Amino acid sequence: MKNVLITGGAGFIGSHLCDRFIAEGWQVSCIDNLSTGSADNVNHLIGHPAFRLIKYDVTNYLHTEGELDLILHFASPASPIDYLEMPIQTLKVGSLGTHKALGLAKEKRARFLLASTSEVYGDPLIHPQKEDYWGNVNPVGIRGVYDEAKRFAEAMTMAYHRYHDLDTRIVRIFNIYGSRMRLYDGRALPTFIRQALKGEDLTVYGDGSQTRSFTYIDDLVEGVYRLALSDEVEPVNLGNPDEVSILDFAKEILALTGSTSRIAFRDLPQDDPKVRKPDISRAKSVLDWEPQVPRSEGLRRTVAYFEKAMSG
Ligand code: UDP
Repeated sequence: MKNVLITGGAGFIGSHLCDRFIAEGWQVSCIDNLSTGSADNVNHLIGHPAFRLIKYDVTNYLHTEGELDLILHFASPASPIDYLEMPIQTLKVGSLGTHKALGLAKEKRARFLLASTSEVYGDPLIHPQKEDYWGNVNPVGIRGVYDEAKRFAEAMTMAYHRYHDLDTRIVRIFNIYGSRMRLYDGRALPTFIRQALKGEDLTVYGDGSQTRSFTYIDDLVEGVYRLALSDEVEPVNLGNPDEVSILDFAKEILALTGSTSRIAFRDLPQDDPKVRKPDISRAKSVLDWEPQVPRSEGLRRTVAYFEKAMSG
C-alpha cells in the first residue's frame, strides 16, 4: 500500500484525485481548510478504510503521522473571484503553503507534485504556450496574487529539487471543468451553464474574442496520475489544445442546453489573458498523454451534473 497526501483534496480537482488514488489502491490523506473546497466533495469517501479527511490550513506548520510516498499540493483558491476575494490567502497558500508541503516531503522523503497553472504564462505573447515560455505577468495587477504565488511555488519547488535533491514534479493546468465545480465560483463555464439553465443573460466579458482551452476533469486526472508516476522533473502542460473564443463557447452552451437566454456583454476584467492554448508535445512524449474527451461530450456530462445540482 502506498501513501499519498493531497492538499486541497476536498476541492474540485483534489477530490477527483482522491477518488483516483483510492481506486488505484493508495492510502489517501486529504488535507483541506474547506475555504473554497467542501467536505461534500469527499463525503462518499468518508468511512473508507484507505481515506481520511483532515481539516487544516497548510500555510501553518505541517506534520502528519506515518509514512508518505507522495504529496500532491493542490491547495489554493483557483477562480478569479476567489482570489480577488482572498488575495492574501492566495499568496500565502502558494508561498507559505508550498514551503510547508515541500518541508514535509523532505522530512518524509516523499515525492512532491505541485499543481501549477497556465496563469504562469500571464497574458501570453507566445501562442500556443510551450513550457519554455517565461510568461507575461503583471505582478501588481489584480490577478498577480495568483499568478505570482504559483510562479514562486514553481521556483521554490525547483530550489528544493536542486538544493535538497527532492524528487519533484510540476503540472501546469489549463482551464479544467467537470462535476464538483461550484455553481457560483465565477468562472465562465459554471456561470454560463447556470445562466443558460435559469434563462438569464449569459454575461460575456469584453467582446468575447479572448480564447481559452477547456479540459475535462477525467483527462486532467489521468495526466496528473501519469506525471506523478513518471520521471519528468520539468514542468508539464496538461490541457486540451482545442481552443475556443469565449463568445463561441457561450453560444455552444446555449445550443447544448436549448436555452432561450441571450448574450449580454460586460466589461473585461483587468489583465484578462487574450489567448490561451497549451502546447502539449511534452505531455505526449513523456507521459504518452493526450485528452480523450472532446468538449461536446465533456460539456454534455457537465450540464447534466449542473442540472441535477440545481434541482437538488
Ligand atoms: N468570463 C466571461 N463571463 C463570465 C466569467 C468569465 O466572459 O461570467 C470570461 C473571462 O473574462 C475570461 C474567460 O471567460 O476571459 C475565462 O474566465 P474564467 O474565469 O473561467 O477563467 P480564467 O481562464 O480567466 O482564469
